[in-house]
Amino acid sequence: MTELDEFRSQVRRVLENEVPAALRGRATDPKAHVWGGRRMAFALPESRAWLEVAAARGWTAPTWPREYGGGGLSGEEAKVLLSEIGRLALPPPLVGFGLTMIGPTLLQFGSERLRREHLPKITSGQIRWCQGYSEPNAGSDLAAVQTSAVRDGDHFVVNGQKIWTSYGDLSDWMFMIVRTDPGAKKKQAGITFLLVDFATPGIEVRPIRLISGASPFCETFFSDARVPVENVVGELNAGWTVAKALLGHERAMIANVMGSGGRRDTASRWDPAEERLAALAKQYVGQAGGRVADPVLRDRIAQLSMDTLCFQLTVQRAADGAAAGHRPGAETSMFKLYGTELNQRRQELMLAIRGPQSLGWESAQGEPGDGFSADELQQTRDWLRSRGNTIEGGTSEVQLNVLAKQVLGLPD
Ligand SMILES: Cc1cc2nc3c(=O)[nH]c(=O)nc-3n(C[C@H](O)[C@H](O)[C@H](O)COP(=O)(O)OP(=O)(O)OC[C@H]3O[C@@H](n4cnc5c(N)ncnc54)[C@H](O)[C@@H]3O)c2cc1C
Repeated sequence: MTELDEFRSQVRRVLENEVPAALRGRATDPKAHVWGGRRMAFALPESRAWLEVAAARGWTAPTWPREYGGGGLSGEEAKVLLSEIGRLALPPPLVGFGLTMIGPTLLQFGSERLRREHLPKITSGQIRWCQGYSEPNAGSDLAAVQTSAVRDGDHFVVNGQKIWTSYGDLSDWMFMIVRTDPGAKKKQAGITFLLVDFATPGIEVRPIRLISGASPFCETFFSDARVPVENVVGELNAGWTVAKALLGHERAMIANVMGSGGRRDTASRWDPAEERLAALAKQYVGQAGGRVADPVLRDRIAQLSMDTLCFQLTVQRAADGAAAGHRPGAETSMFKLYGTELNQRRQELMLAIRGPQSLGWESAQGEPGDGFSADELQQTRDWLRSRGNTIEGGTSEVQLNVLAKQVLGLPD
């Protein structure tokens, strides 16, 4: 038995014996996803046990070094872990922007003090993070940020406004970009990357109410909020480099989650996207000889399944490169562009399969409208939510601009 086989047996033993069986098959169930934080909530009580088992072994961040709460696993071992989690279709033990965005950025740019302070609280789920990039006049043109941070002794005094802060009302800390040198010749040169505790006086987070009645978005206002200078990540006025690296991690995460349709690794045979599509089509449109009855629909499902698999294998190739020490570059823009458009195609196909049953509504009290199941309602939400995929983390047009410049070398 090789060391890797031995590792696989150990992982399998833990997952089968210590993780509640009730979580099996719930990989893509939003209720089974734990976001952590000071106000951590477990929609399913079993999720707490899974988080504890995983955090104790560093499996919430398998490849991060052990001294920061990670698992210290090699790329190969991490793949084995993911494939075993995928085999039982378990949800990830913990999700959130700490693991996918600020954590990897701190590993790359953070001081030893910042890493030791923040990374273990991310891997254990104690602290939930949000992103303070966009402002009313700085979206695609992110380097136009105006929120100011003026030095006063050991602190910065922060004033300004962020917008579209996803889950700001549920978060404990924000990673943000601020303007520290308004006189810099290039706007990118006067930006600093800062970590801010939401417990700081002078910060107000206001949820934005959308037409649907609910919203994950917030506006975040800063009025003379005093933030320690030691919370700067990287160098003063050199935050643009850190911000871009974080966007690379964000785009890779969005592409991976959206493009994969819930599949977390390619080694396991479990594949919710394809199975779910074919099973749904048989249920809603009917079957003939064990196959989806409608040949056009069958064709679309087959095409989407092939595209998903090709995409996932390509992402896996890049992930292997990352495990070998290669930092994400312009390819994350390619993945973000393709993965999000793939997810929108998947949602459109779901819509075609379910027909009018995809257009469910719910009452103000959250009760499903007449004749719609909870699952159908979730489908409506997923479809509506997928429209934002090609905007968040930088729009598709912005990704095309990045590719034109950095990959094709075209002039501005
Ligand atoms: C679901 C979701 C979650 C989000 N979460 C967060 C978050 O947590 N934190 C955060 O800081 N932000 C968040 N955002 C904001 C997001 O980053 C911005 O919406 C995005 O960067 C676009 O900026 P904008 O909305 O100001 O649009 P604009 O920049 O005003 O763009 C409007 C349109 O013009 C196009 N456009 C603009 N410039 C160019 C150009 N140079 N070339 C070609 N076309 C161009 C764009 O592609 C777009 O179609 C989120 C957005 C969404 C949808």
